[in-house]
Amino acid sequence: MTTPDTPSADTPSADTPEARLADIRGRIAAAAREAGRDPAEVTLVAVSKTHGPDRIAPLIAAGQRTFGENRVQEAAAKWPDLKAAHPDIELHLIGPLQTNKVKDALALFDVIETLDRPKLAFALADAITRAGIRQPRLFVQVNTGEEPQKAGIAPGDLGAFLKTVREEAGLAVDGLMCIPPVEEEPALHFGLLANLARDHGLKVLSMGMSGDYEVAVRLGATHVRVGTALFGAREAYR
Ligand SMILES: *Cc1c(COP(=O)(O)O)cnc(C)c1O
Repeated sequence: MTTPDTPSADTPSADTPEARLADIRGRIAAAAREAGRDPAEVTLVAVSKTHGPDRIAPLIAAGQRTFGENRVQEAAAKWPDLKAAHPDIELHLIGPLQTNKVKDALALFDVIETLDRPKLAFALADAITRAGIRQPRLFVQVNTGEEPQKAGIAPGDLGAFLKTVREEAGLAVDGLMCIPPVEEEPALHFGLLANLARDHGLKVLSMGMSGDYEVAVRLGATHVRVGTALFGAREAYR
């Protein structure tokens, strides 16, 4: 943190979004190397939910190209212009997707990280066929903590779900994502997700948020979803 009389804008430790981005990228790279991994295997998904284009633009200017949003409507309000201006941006949906928002989601998102039920897989497949578009990359959300209030496929149901998605809906799945229970050791959940991915021959693992992304990288994350550590605190919502 900078003190009020420290010149902040041009020092490496400055508390700006650009400086935080550089710091987080450095930490990701260090965690990857510690685990004997190539830092290039890890993608930082900048979670921009609740933040407007004015907060997002400096990160785009600093070279960040992968962003995550958790609500379709909020993303539809702010991303079309940004994506038109920067066609190489990759947008990830990291929140629940209702079947009545599938069409809007397909128009916006390059990656849907929250495939969590057969009904959604069939709705996606149907909308993709109707629109005649290429499918977005899909990750299956796994409810590693088996929390009743949380979305996601239970670990024991993953094999059957993958079969349904691939063979009945005809969709390809790239990887898995999880949101560990808040009160539990995240490493246990990251380890479980990594084992599930390995058992099912999947290479992509979206796990780790502001408080634990370095742990996630050490345990094999290919995508970390970081909001607060990058943008600062969000207004409380939901
Ligand atoms: C908000 C959110 C994040 C980012 O959380 P931070 O703690 O702010 O980094 C990551 N993943 C999901 C699914 C989220 O909804």
